Amino acid sequence: MLLPRFLKIDLRRLILVLAVISVMATLGNSFYATYEAQRALLISNTLDANRVYAAKLAEMTNTMIQSSQSQLAYSAALLAPAMTDHNTLLSEVRRLQQQTATFNSVAIVNADAMVMAVYPDTLQIKGAKLTSQSAKLSITTHQPMITDPFVSLSGNYLISISYPIFDKEQTYLGYVTGTIYLQSQNMLSGILGQHYYRDGSSLYVVDRNRTRIYHPDNARVGEKIRDNAVVDKVLNGEEGALELTNDEGTDMLAGFAPIQQTHWGVVAQRPRTATLAGLDTQMMTVLFKLIPINLLILLFIWISAIFISRPLWQLANKAKLMDQQEALKNIARIRVWYFEAAQLKQAMLKGLGLLNTKIDKLHSDSHTDAMTGLANRRGMQQMLDHYQALGRPLAVIALDIDHFKQINDSFGHDVGDQVLSALASLMQQGARQADALCRSGGEEFLVLLPELPLHLAHEIAERLRQRVAAHPMPGTGHITISLGVAYWPGEGNDDLSAVLKQADKALYEAKHRGRNQTVVANDQGALIHDDAPPLLVAPHADTQAHVITG
Ligand code: GH3
Ligand code: MG
Ligand code: MG
Repeated sequence: MLLPRFLKIDLRRLILVLAVISVMATLGNSFYATYEAQRALLISNTLDANRVYAAKLAEMTNTMIQSSQSQLAYSAALLAPAMTDHNTLLSEVRRLQQQTATFNSVAIVNADAMVMAVYPDTLQIKGAKLTSQSAKLSITTHQPMITDPFVSLSGNYLISISYPIFDKEQTYLGYVTGTIYLQSQNMLSGILGQHYYRDGSSLYVVDRNRTRIYHPDNARVGEKIRDNAVVDKVLNGEEGALELTNDEGTDMLAGFAPIQQTHWGVVAQRPRTATLAGLDTQMMTVLFKLIPINLLILLFIWISAIFISRPLWQLANKAKLMDQQEALKNIARIRVWYFEAAQLKQAMLKGLGLLNTKIDKLHSDSHTDAMTGLANRRGMQQMLDHYQALGRPLAVIALDIDHFKQINDSFGHDVGDQVLSALASLMQQGARQADALCRSGGEEFLVLLPELPLHLAHEIAERLRQRVAAHPMPGTGHITISLGVAYWPGEGNDDLSAVLKQADKALYEAKHRGRNQTVVANDQGALIHDDAPPLLVAPHADTQAHVITG
């Protein structure tokens, strides 16, 4: 994908961004998973605890009711022969009420529903005739009974437990009854009242008509509970636990169990918010434990990212500077420690090597004359610049083929070319390592002889002239050349190009004087005559070397 330059992110940052994203995702995920698991655990633990607690309380209440019925049964047997003895009746109701903490009040009622004795006597219902539904039921059924809650003659909201009294002949004499005031301290509150939490947890008991007969908050005793799944279940005889929203709109975790004896139900419940209250702090602890580990992981990835990306980053940086001289060296210096980077480095070095070879070749091609293999004008200029910069002494020979036009005219241009190549070869054979040979134009050449005194340069020029003259050229026979020699003493003197001009001038003079000869320019640029000082070699028998004044 092509991105604008400023949008291209480097590998190190890319790895870092990926690492941050994945660490955050992992952190978030593990945090969420832990939260969910903890939450589910807390809820199921609470539900279970409430169920167990409700079951235990239901069982205790059951036992208590059974035991209170046994107490009444015992009294009934005791009272049968003494139903007319008021003192016995009175002492028995007192004993029953006081000896056990089971009942709020105890009364003995005869077969006509008349109260024969009552304790405590503050009730002042002795002698009164009971008209309540439950009283009538007790008398008509002659059965042990546990009533539904009702408001008594004395204005108490209560339930009563009764046991029938029969004489020896099984004649029904009435019943003995104990009451439990639902809104006062009583047997139920004794068992159930210990369970009360500040966090909104509560415990209540419903009777078979969905009336709340016990609640820690007295004001709520006597309420009818309508739509409530827990009450449905517990009055159906089921034991269990359930999440529900109560009629006040609070989410509750409720455990429930039935009281078999009375067909009541016990419900222990705790608000869900109270259950989960500790979870937030717990999760913060988890978070604080996870953060350092994750930061360490990030740090580790960050350092790894630096190590992984460094070779690539360095290679990429050097790739930008491939055109620089030291590119090859710089790339070779990069330390790569893994496969891909090593391959890239190798490929870059190889590519750069090839490129350099190509460039060198192009460079030398552009500085070389294709036909003769000698330096062309550009190459020559480069060498002259080089010598000029060195500032060391230099002798120069300019040479030109005599009557070359005629050779072309007589033998053709191709033969002319062959002559040029053959002459170049002859020049090369006679040259030293340090000498530079150039084709300065058509059939003109230049020889640069570093650190060579003028007289030796003259000798060399002469030797070359003679060798050319003696060498049969391909397709033409013999040719001759004319040469001009000049000398540059080096640094602090005229421009090197002035010396070239002197050599040219000497060459021109050689032509002028009849060709096939060498003319030397002295160090003032004067062309030296035949009778010049012995610096100059006398002409050979077969040559005419001239030293001429300008
Ligand atoms: P001079 O003795 O005065 O030097 O006479 P010349 O004929 O050699 O000189 P001139 O300058 O009159 O002619 C040079 C000729 O060289 C003209 C041209 O056709 C020929 N020439 C230049 N370059 C080449 C080349 O690359 N190949 C061939 N075959 N001929 C060339
Ligand atoms: Mg010429
Ligand atoms: Mg010529």
